Order: sequence, then C-alpha cells, then structure tokens
Amino acid sequence: MSANSRQKRRQQETDGNEIILLDNVSKTYSTGAPALNGVTLSINKGEFVFIVGDSGSGKSTLIKLLLRELTATSGTVRVMGADLARIRHGKIPRFRRNLGIVFQDFRLLKDRNVYENVAFAQRIVETPSREIRKNVPSILATVGLAGKYKARPKQLSGGEQQRVALARALVNKPAILLADEPTGNLDPKNSWEIMKLLEEINETGTTVLVVTHNREIVNAMQKRVITMKKGVVVSDEEMGVYIDEED
Ligand code: ADP
Ligand code: MG
Repeated sequence: MSANSRQKRRQQETDGNEIILLDNVSKTYSTGAPALNGVTLSINKGEFVFIVGDSGSGKSTLIKLLLRELTATSGTVRVMGADLARIRHGKIPRFRRNLGIVFQDFRLLKDRNVYENVAFAQRIVETPSREIRKNVPSILATVGLAGKYKARPKQLSGGEQQRVALARALVNKPAILLADEPTGNLDPKNSWEIMKLLEEINETGTTVLVVTHNREIVNAMQKRVITMKKGVVVSDEEMGVYIDEED
C-alpha cells in the first residue's frame, strides 16, 4: 500500500470508530534502552482491551503517553482524533477530561471522605454544586458504595478503596478509562469484582484499557489481549489469552 493510501485509510478510521491510535511509536527515556520501540496499534470506540507483559515491557509508558504525561520520542499518538504531539500545553487539562485513570495504589486523598474524594474530581472541572450533589451519589451507587460516602480511605478495604478510585475516574464521564494494574493490590475476590465493574462500565459505551498481570481473569474474560515484550507488541488477539513468557 502506498503511503498516500495508507494515510487515507487512517483518516477514514479516525473519522469512524478509532479512538486510540499509535503509529510506529517509540519512547526512550534520557537513560537506558527504548521503553517502547515501534509500537503500532489501534483501538476502536467501545472496545475492552487487556494489555499484558512482563514488568518493564513498557505498559505504563504506553498509558503515560495516552495521558500526555509523556510525549513520544518518535511516531504518532492520536487520542480521539487529537495528535498528542501537537496539542498545546494550555489545552492538556481539557484533553484529559476525556480520560479516567485508575492506578494499582488507589491514590485517594487520605484526609477526605469517600464523597469528597469523588466530588473533588468534579470541582476541578468546575461542575456546578447542584450537579455534584446528584452525580456523586449516583456514581457511588454504580460502584457499590452507596452506604460508605462518609468513610475515610483508611476505614475501607483495598477493594472498596479501588471502587472509590474508580468512581472518581468515572464521575466526569470520560470516553476512555485507563487502568494500570488496578487489581495488583487486591485479593482474588476483590480483583474479580473490580474487573466485573470495568466490564459493566465498558458495556455502557466507555472504551476500557486494562494493564494487568492477572492471568486467570484475562483467560476467563475473553477480551482482546495485547501482549508487550521489551517495548514491542508481540501479539494482539481478539478473545486472547495471557501468553506465558519464555525467554
Ligand atoms: P511496565 O509498566 O511494563 O512495567 P514501564 O513502562 O514502567 O514498564 O517501563 C519500561 C522501561 O522503561 C523499563 O525498562 C523501565 O525501567 C524504563 N523506565 C520507566 N520509567 C522510566 C523513567 N522515568 N526514567 C527512565 N527509565 C524509565
Ligand atoms: Mg507498569
């Protein structure tokens, strides 16, 4: 295919369903070997995608590129049609409203209760108080925490804390939810509950990307699985499984 028709095809994909595109993306930190080395992948609106791979394979770097916390050393990253290398600094906060993010270590505000942790995300984007009073209880009910809104994080189990983090990520209704090892600190039962919640969220139309090491869940859920190794995508399968790594 010629460069021209390739470009045309990509444009058509962007006009249609494509919400995330990485085209030949590399990222090299100031020290060390490339963390990502020529990654090309495309994710459509409404997909649920697992990203798996050994520690150090570049998964978190990929997430940070999508958040525009980092910029690629070379190649193109597009999110919702925007070329992230070209997005102006002042426009980054607005761009990030399209994204919800959940981490392994929850990152809640320890001195605020559950309600305040979630409401905080709405205040940052200047949601009117009247809306906040409606939205926060609604999203807390969605994640199964309707009765816990006055609790402080330390009074909650790990699974409950991750649900608060999830509510905070979702309250502004992002188009894309990114989760970087969201069940890494949870026991199997809570891990399943969080993954089932992520699946429900996906079923309402949110595009969901989940970085995980949880082999059992990946194999059971039969979603698209992108496997990374040493900065390269080594497999990308619909209804994939967690591939055993052998050097
Ligand atoms: P993963 O999330 O798959 O464990 P990372 O994306 O965190 O992988 O890391 C990929 C590679 O980049 C690793 O070799 C890691 O040591 C390196 N790396 C990650 N962050 C930095 C950084 N801030 N500075 C230098 N090297 C980094
Ligand atoms: Mg990581």
